[in-house]
Amino acid sequence: MMKICLFWHRRDLRLHDNAGLAAALASELPVVPLFIYDQDILDYLPAKADARLTYIVDEVERLAQATEAAGGTFLARFGKPVEVLEALVEELEIAAVHTNEDYEPYATKRDAAVGQMLRQHGVDFLLYKDQVVFAKDEILTKSGTVPKVFGAYHKSFLAKLTDDLLLPYGSREAFRAENLHRLAPAKTGSRPTLASLGFERLEQYVPIADLPAEEVVRNYHNTRNTPALQNGTARISVQLRFGTLSVRQVMRQAKALNPKLLAEIIWRDFFMMLLWHYPITATEAYDPKMRQVPYRNNEAEFQAWCEGRTGYPLVDAGMRELNATGYLPNRVRMTVAGFLVKHLFIDWRWGEQYFADKLLDYELANNVGNWQWMAGTGAISAPWFRVYSPENQLAQVDPELKYVKRWVPEVGTRDYPAPIVEHKFARDRAVEAIRAARIAAS
Ligand SMILES: Cc1cc2nc3c(=O)[nH]c(=O)nc-3n(C[C@H](O)[C@H](O)[C@H](O)COP(=O)(O)OP(=O)(O)OC[C@H]3O[C@@H](n4cnc5c(N)ncnc54)[C@H](O)[C@@H]3O)c2cc1C
Repeated sequence: MMKICLFWHRRDLRLHDNAGLAAALASELPVVPLFIYDQDILDYLPAKADARLTYIVDEVERLAQATEAAGGTFLARFGKPVEVLEALVEELEIAAVHTNEDYEPYATKRDAAVGQMLRQHGVDFLLYKDQVVFAKDEILTKSGTVPKVFGAYHKSFLAKLTDDLLLPYGSREAFRAENLHRLAPAKTGSRPTLASLGFERLEQYVPIADLPAEEVVRNYHNTRNTPALQNGTARISVQLRFGTLSVRQVMRQAKALNPKLLAEIIWRDFFMMLLWHYPITATEAYDPKMRQVPYRNNEAEFQAWCEGRTGYPLVDAGMRELNATGYLPNRVRMTVAGFLVKHLFIDWRWGEQYFADKLLDYELANNVGNWQWMAGTGAISAPWFRVYSPENQLAQVDPELKYVKRWVPEVGTRDYPAPIVEHKFARDRAVEAIRAARIAAS
């Protein structure tokens, strides 16, 4: 039987500009692309109708059809990755498995286990940097430590960012019959569907299929803090999450047209780098002095926040948009997060988990990084004593209530609740409690 290699798609559901796929196609072995619906992840999805899984199944199907049209076979399986790959290695003549690096704590452990199993079978496991432009410790401070100031990281990033680092990999061009392998139908198996996986279809926010319009990118710095605008931001987070756009592609566009947008995309690399260095921050405050903060964790108030019933219009509009669409503009994410951790004085992990369940662009590094930033607990954070007034935020970003009225039509009527807590009282309560906890911990 002919030796083949697998290309294992994970967070890179695209044919174009894909580092690992390009390398597999350039190797001397014909390629069979693969996607695994990871049982360990699916078992934890909170609801049977899941917009993320719907998106993934659609994109995997698109890849499968493109592979067949090009003359190859696409494999899709459900199970635990180590077991699925081991079964494939026993069934097919696989000499190598190529895939792109993933820096989350779960993924690094999974890949270590997969690598070990494959090596025992004499199969190479080859990983490539694709998801970010600079990974792991490629950017350090002058003294060789992990950068914890975004300004300095951003400066080093730009100094290292040559145009050739953003050149596309030629994976789509090489995706041709002579580089692919067609398996006998008996070996292909059927591809899982949403129904066979035990899920239902849910379409919420539908991401743009390609790069944002040039006009959106050019105006980004003026429009990014106006949530009433549908196109005020680039709206590329879902595509970056699942890799239907490549980070090089979006950085090329932003580098040419808008340095502010480029800086925001660099935050993504920054948080992924921090999580890789400090995997503990996925569940713990980075700052040990912030690990014993006596959060109130009032269940009823948490529920009011989740449902958009706090009596603060911008917070409520945001939570209702999140619940209805699985998306929320950054400025409103900051408002709702700040309100939960400071005004209601609820553990940032509760909010992080709620976002993880709801966001279509949910991304561990970005979510944890931003929640810890808002809570003042992270490797990089807003000062712990900073408490934004939700009323001032509203006056700045939505003075005419255009955004708020879209989601909270009853605002200003008797049907709208009174504020759940008074701003100054809540601010003082949180600041004093955190101050005392920090003193006790030092
Ligand atoms: C509490 C909180 C939780 C968040 N959780 C997530 C999450 O789970 N997944 C996620 O992708 N983003 C998260 N963000 C960051 C940011 O809000 C979203 O990336 C952004 O709103 C997505 O919309 P966009 O693509 O139009 O963004 P744009 O403003 O157009 O930015 C373009 C891209 O830059 C990156 N980016 C922008 N802002 C940030 C930021 N603050 N941190 C890291 N990367 C950024 C994203 O990849 C984004 O798609 C969170 C922010 C906050 C305050």
